Amino acid sequence: MTELRSARDIWAAALGELQIQISKANYRTWLEKTTGLIYQDNQFVISVPNTFIAEYLDRNQRSLIEKTLIGLLTSPEVKVLFQVNGRYPNGAGADAASTPSLWPCNFNSRYFFNSFVVGKSNHLAYEAAQKVAEQPGGAYNPLFIYGGSGLGKTHLLHAIGHAALASHAQVLCVSAEQFTNEFISALRERKTEDFRAKYRNLGMLLIDDIHFISGKEQTEESFFHTFNELHNTNRQIVITSNQSPQAIRALPDRLRTRLEWGLVADIQPPDLPTRLSIWEAKARQKDVTLGPEVLEFIAQKAPQNIRELEGSLNRVIAYAQLFRTAPTLELAAQALENITEKKSAVAAITPATVIAAVANSFTLTPDDLRSDKRDKETTCARRVAMYLLRQETNCSVTQIGQELGRDASAVTNACKKIAGEMETNPYLKRKVQEIQQLLTNGEDPAKS
Ligand code: ADP
Ligand code: MG
Repeated sequence: MTELRSARDIWAAALGELQIQISKANYRTWLEKTTGLIYQDNQFVISVPNTFIAEYLDRNQRSLIEKTLIGLLTSPEVKVLFQVNGRYPNGAGADAASTPSLWPCNFNSRYFFNSFVVGKSNHLAYEAAQKVAEQPGGAYNPLFIYGGSGLGKTHLLHAIGHAALASHAQVLCVSAEQFTNEFISALRERKTEDFRAKYRNLGMLLIDDIHFISGKEQTEESFFHTFNELHNTNRQIVITSNQSPQAIRALPDRLRTRLEWGLVADIQPPDLPTRLSIWEAKARQKDVTLGPEVLEFIAQKAPQNIRELEGSLNRVIAYAQLFRTAPTLELAAQALENITEKKSAVAAITPATVIAAVANSFTLTPDDLRSDKRDKETTCARRVAMYLLRQETNCSVTQIGQELGRDASAVTNACKKIAGEMETNPYLKRKVQEIQQLLTNGEDPAKS
């Protein structure tokens, strides 16, 4: 996959130039964690860690980036796309599934082997995944990983992908759903030859959530042929599923047996010590120090699903930030209590928490919002606070006005204004939604 390798290198060179052209702080915040993904048909796809960064770069740095790339590529025209974990947040209006000409090799930037906590419940799958990354096409072909939702299947799959990319393998990772969509549109557009060629030429194929294709006969058939072509020539295939090959319903036997040819490795829900280690690791990643008693408490209380476990950690951290206190046992108890009783969490949204959350998100203080300050940032934050108070609490416009030292008509106008602006300004919309999510379930959507 030459496009891939060269896109990486070209972008590395572009970063070198951009580093000189913008301030160090800006570079650090917006560009440092980006990578070049694909360069094809004058389109340059850049992978970014989250939607905020994508939107910022898209609005503010697009022309500088395009100019820099044009210089490096000596091409008269380059169009830049920012891609977050497989999604296009803006522009182009496309998602990976409906643009089959692009390689959707967008490995999650957090899913590496070294960020995967190994315990009794997952060590077989982990060891096998590592082995496959080191020696693709060897004994474990295909490697079939299965387990319940949120237990780390996609994480391992992307970790293999990262490792394979690093050794310049031609690796492609698609969900079975993407595979299906691509296949269907290839059929419709009479491009099945292109479709076959794309898959046939791979060095490694990673397919996520294969159970998705069960019962879709034509797709199964196409997958069967793809599988054979790759397998016959010792190219590595890794497949994940929520069930073992035996248990997936409506799968033709010839496909089922092939899925079992290599190694079938399961992932079980993590036991208490593993949950504890995962918590520790995640807290460390987020630069949050949690005392042992808090960790113990959370690990006991938290669900076995690791995705939800992460959600509850985010929630404790969000609470700590929202109330600007240390993540104590008490706070953790409060944060996690509301997770099981969602209703009481919603009821717990008070004017003070809304104002604190908005102020925090704009790096202002609640007093700034109540003050006479009229600079652009404060005015905007104040309006957002009014809007969210209207949305998330039962306060009347008069009460909201009192909270923020304004009259009722100012609140009504602010609400209208924000609602209108959210229609046209995706950055603002996302920001408001993030605060909203933080308030209602303590999750930061940019990080999930
Ligand atoms: P699945 O694909 O099995 O539904 P994911 O791979 O998407 O689950 O994992 C859900 C979340 O839990 C991800 O954020 C992932 O990083 C995290 N996670 C899962 N297992 C582990 C682990 N063993 N160590 C660290 N994080 C993990
Ligand atoms: Mg998954």
